[in-house]
Amino acid sequence: MRVVLVSGGVISGIGKGIIASSAGLLLKTSGLKVTAIKIDPYLNVDAGTLGPLEHGECFVLADGGECDLDLGNYERYLGITLTSDNNITTGKIYQSVIARERKGDYLGRTVQVVPHITDAIQEWITRVAQIPVDDSGDAPDVCIIELGGTVGDIESAPFVEALVQLRHKLTKDPNSSFFNIHVSYVPLIHGEEKTKPTQHAIKTMRSAGLIPDLIACRCDASLDDATVRKIASSCQVDYEQVLGVHDMETIYQVPLLLHDEGLLQQLLKKLGLDKLTLQPAQV
Ligand code: ADP
Repeated sequence: MRVVLVSGGVISGIGKGIIASSAGLLLKTSGLKVTAIKIDPYLNVDAGTLGPLEHGECFVLADGGECDLDLGNYERYLGITLTSDNNITTGKIYQSVIARERKGDYLGRTVQVVPHITDAIQEWITRVAQIPVDDSGDAPDVCIIELGGTVGDIESAPFVEALVQLRHKLTKDPNSSFFNIHVSYVPLIHGEEKTKPTQHAIKTMRSAGLIPDLIACRCDASLDDATVRKIASSCQVDYEQVLGVHDMETIYQVPLLLHDEGLLQQLLKKLGLDKLTLQPAQV
């Protein structure tokens, strides 16, 4: 199983969904089959009962699943059909674990966040990542996982722990891989690009056990080279692992921007897919 995790720091609503969709689209253009999972760490079982003024449109899938609008972005960018299982919420995970507890699956044992909730999250991801999402009926090659909110939030902690465990397992398996894009925000204050929020965001993710393979810095305008170098050196990553993702006129230009910055090559190399001979897809 090959996973691209898109997590975020500093603030929410900075474009994780668009970056996740764009990364998926770039992989698809090189001939890979891509699926996507959105993790929403709230306790609602699905988005059907959420107010649209707070969370944006409730996107309805072909199977009737009411979910986050990011699932709509994935379907539109990637030309795939997802099911309600592609949207994981805390509510869904607890509902499944509590149903198993009532059935007696854990008889005699204390049911706990670690390992029962974290195992349930990993089992859910592993199962859904294999479900075909197009007419070919083939299992996808890569699963994009977007973790909603920001790393460090109390409510996403079990998901972060589950993803850290998943990374550990996948990186040991020669046929699997894991790539973490962490989306951060670089504010422009009095004409100066501020890197401190990103430094703290990376420290927070590292202390939770996640490792940034790429830092995508959202910003108003194209980042200065000196800012990229400063983020790379203070976050212990290479210069190439820091990408500036500035505001574009339309979100459909973001995949082109990321392509120009070399995201596809980095993804293919780190996922161990750069040696494959693939038939580029028409998208
Ligand atoms: P998140 O997933 O982090 O909550 P979204 O991907 O939903 O954020 O993006 C938040 C908003 O920012 C959306 O309205 C999206 O269209 C917009 N947006 C994201 N990236 C860009 C970009 N590079 N240029 C312009 N608008 C963007």
